[in-house]
Amino acid sequence: MNDAIRSQFPILHQQINQRPLVYLDNAATVQKPLAVLEASETYYKEVNANIHRGVHYLSRKATDAHEQARDRIARYLNAPASHEVIFTSGTTDSINLVAATLADSGKIQQGDRILISTLEHHSNIVPWQMLCKKTGAQLDIIPINDAGEWDLSEIDSLLTERTKLVAVNHVSNALGTINPIHALITKAKALGALTLIDGAQSAPHMAIDVQALGCDFYTFSGHKTYAPTGIGILWGRSEVLEMLPPWRGGGEMIKEVTFEHTTYNDLPFKYEAGTPNIEGGIALAAALDWMDQLGLDTIAQHEDSLLQQATQALLDIDGLRLYGTATNKASVVSFAIEGVHHYDLGTLIDQMGVGVRTGHHCCQPLMQRFGITGTTRASFAVYNTSEEIELLVNAVKKASMMLR
Ligand code: PMP
Repeated sequence: MNDAIRSQFPILHQQINQRPLVYLDNAATVQKPLAVLEASETYYKEVNANIHRGVHYLSRKATDAHEQARDRIARYLNAPASHEVIFTSGTTDSINLVAATLADSGKIQQGDRILISTLEHHSNIVPWQMLCKKTGAQLDIIPINDAGEWDLSEIDSLLTERTKLVAVNHVSNALGTINPIHALITKAKALGALTLIDGAQSAPHMAIDVQALGCDFYTFSGHKTYAPTGIGILWGRSEVLEMLPPWRGGGEMIKEVTFEHTTYNDLPFKYEAGTPNIEGGIALAAALDWMDQLGLDTIAQHEDSLLQQATQALLDIDGLRLYGTATNKASVVSFAIEGVHHYDLGTLIDQMGVGVRTGHHCCQPLMQRFGITGTTRASFAVYNTSEEIELLVNAVKKASMMLR
């Protein structure tokens, strides 16, 4: 099966320093299958036009394709309605949309609390700090244990009636922890708090059902789900999106404009000012089709077997410490080797053809929690193979012997 999958990814078939490329930086971005590349190309060869206000043939065709992509994404998330799916440029953009409009809504007051966790990516920290600065609210942080799992022992003092929003990731990009979000969402809802799930690392690896989760917002990025960069999704519950004010002003997000006054468009267009990434949305729908055809369970099982193999083999390396040993994990191994700087390790194994990420993974507070500046992180996608895990492990062994 793996050869059939790999043959759909032209970029994987290249040599780096006379060795086969081993691409293990999938949590940062994944490679794109032919089906997605072809969807982008076909769009530009046969469809390209600006959408929504054109009466001509191509404009109608592009509008239909764009709106069908929205429907497809709604189905992927099991969203109750397509107009709850907002096209953004990615997870960061989606979270900033919610943070900025919530700040402007007047619903967050001095003394209110926003709850996040130690595991968050900077894009699920900084927008909330900005909101706090504007409103006088304060951040509370769910701590973690040494395995990289939420420590919920003090949750009753962290999540209270004063909490107006809980914003947490579903899967940690730095450690791979799959967080028990459903229980937290249920508890938050009972206390009247809004809930936002950063799904950047879950949408690529598992089936998502926003209705079953019960959250108010779910965000993800196209480029981590086999689609191009520059496209992402904010799903929001209609009632909540309708309660929030508009964000960016411009074309498309209006109903009527005079110099004195503007009235705003309905969802989803209220949040889609300007010409959107039309091709990106269509390619994202093609990527989700591709993932569904392969089967989300098949993807998850394959990645899990690579994770187990990598975890066991890496632990055999002298002086290696794993960061993130949660019971429930997806697709990421983060580690450090005693006496070796992660940057040197990453650079050396790159020379052996193995591409991994080193550093803080946009999670500086998490690194501070462990008292480190960064880790080396290998992250897996469905096209990775057991042989590639062996190449990773051998490269890490060799490099650590050279560096220690
Ligand atoms: N949250 C998490 C958990 C992530 O892994 C990432 C990307 N590394 C982001 C947010 C930000 O995504 P993007 O850069 O696509 O906006």
